[in-house]
Amino acid sequence: MAWDFETEPEFQEQLDWTRAFLDEHILPLETIDLEVTDEQWNALTAPLKQQVKDRGLWACHLDPELGGQGFGQVKLGLMHEILGRSSIAPAIFGNNAPDSGNAELLAIGGNDEQKKRWMEPLLAGELRSGFSMTEPDTAGSDPTLLETRAVRDGDTWVINGHKWFTSGGSGADFLIAMVVTNPDVHPYQGSSMIVVPTDTPGLEIVRDVPNMHHPYPGQFARHPMGHSEVIYRDVRVPAENLIGNPGDGFVLAQKRLGPGRIHHAMRWIGQSQRALDMMCERALSRYAHGSLLAEKQMVQDFIAETRIDIASARLLCLHAA
Ligand SMILES: Cc1cc2nc3c(=O)[nH]c(=O)nc-3n(C[C@H](O)[C@H](O)[C@H](O)COP(=O)(O)OP(=O)(O)OC[C@H]3O[C@@H](n4cnc5c(N)ncnc54)[C@H](O)[C@@H]3O)c2cc1C
Repeated sequence: MAWDFETEPEFQEQLDWTRAFLDEHILPLETIDLEVTDEQWNALTAPLKQQVKDRGLWACHLDPELGGQGFGQVKLGLMHEILGRSSIAPAIFGNNAPDSGNAELLAIGGNDEQKKRWMEPLLAGELRSGFSMTEPDTAGSDPTLLETRAVRDGDTWVINGHKWFTSGGSGADFLIAMVVTNPDVHPYQGSSMIVVPTDTPGLEIVRDVPNMHHPYPGQFARHPMGHSEVIYRDVRVPAENLIGNPGDGFVLAQKRLGPGRIHHAMRWIGQSQRALDMMCERALSRYAHGSLLAEKQMVQDFIAETRIDIASARLLCLHAA
C-alpha cells in the first residue's frame, strides 16, 4: 500500500507535463498580467488553452458523462497543487474558482435545461459565475442563520436579501444564490439554491470587499478576483431557475463545498510551496554577517518549520480527498 499518495504512471506523466507547462508557458505570463487588455490576454492564452484541451486536461473536475475526466478528488488535488503555484493557471485549465464549483453544483443538482443553459457555457469558459451564500448580518460559518428570502409568486421567485464575499460576483454573468424558501421548517429543509443572472433588475453589485490583495487595482474582466457585496431587492427570476427541489440547498451546498474546498486548499499548498522555494533561493543567494543566510541556524529553522507545516497540511488535504 502506498502511503504517500503516489499516483499511477500515466497520471504522473500528466502531472509532470502540467508542471513543465506551468513553468515554461504560464509563469512568464504573470509579469504582463496587469499590463495587457482582456482581448490581448485572450489571444495570448487561447493557444495555451488549446494545448491543455489536447492533453485532455481542460475542465477535468467533472465525471466523464458530464464532459469531465472523472479523475476523482485525489488526482484533482495533485493537479490543483501544481496549478495553485500561479493564480493565472486555473483559468487556463478551465477549472478556476468559483466557476469549477458552480459547474459541479449544476452537474449534481441541475436539470438538463439548466446544464445546457448554465453549466455547459461555464465549462467552455464562455460564462462566469459566483456563489452567493455568505451574508454580512449573519455568521457565515453557520448558514442555518441565513436570512435572504425567496418567495414564490406565480411562475417566479422573488428574492430579497444582502450578501457579501460573493467571489467573482462583479465579473459574473450569473450567481447561484443560497436563499431561504421556507422559514417554517429547519433550515436544512427550508433553504434552496437559485440561479440569478446578474443583469436581473433589482440585483445590485455594491462593491468588491477588500480582502488580502483583492481586488486588484484597474481590474480586468478576466480577473474573477473581487469578493462582492450584493443586494437583492425584489429580484424576480423564473421558477425554473431553482436548482433541484425547494429545500435542497444544504445538500447541494455540502456537495459543492466538499470538492471545492479540497481544490482550494491544494491550490494554497501549491502557492505555499512556491513561497518556500523563493525563501530557499533567497537564503542561498543572500550573504550577510559572514555567511549565506542559508548557513544561519535561525533561517534553517524557518525553512524546516515551514516545510513541516506545508507537508502536514498537504497530507491532511490529500487524506480528506
Ligand atoms: C477570500 C474569501 C472568499 C470567499 N468567497 C465566498 C464565496 O464565493 N461565496 C460565499 O458565499 N462566501 C464566500 N466567503 C465567505 C466565507 O464563506 C465566510 O467568510 C466564512 O464562512 C466565515 O463566515 P464569516 O466571515 O461570517 O465569519 P463568522 O462566521 O462570523 O466567524 C467569526 C469568527 O468566529 C469563529 N468561529 C466560527 N465558528 C466557530 C466555532 N464553531 N468555534 C469557534 N470559533 C468559531 C471564526 O473562526 C471567526 O474567527 C469568502 C471568504 C473569503 C475570506
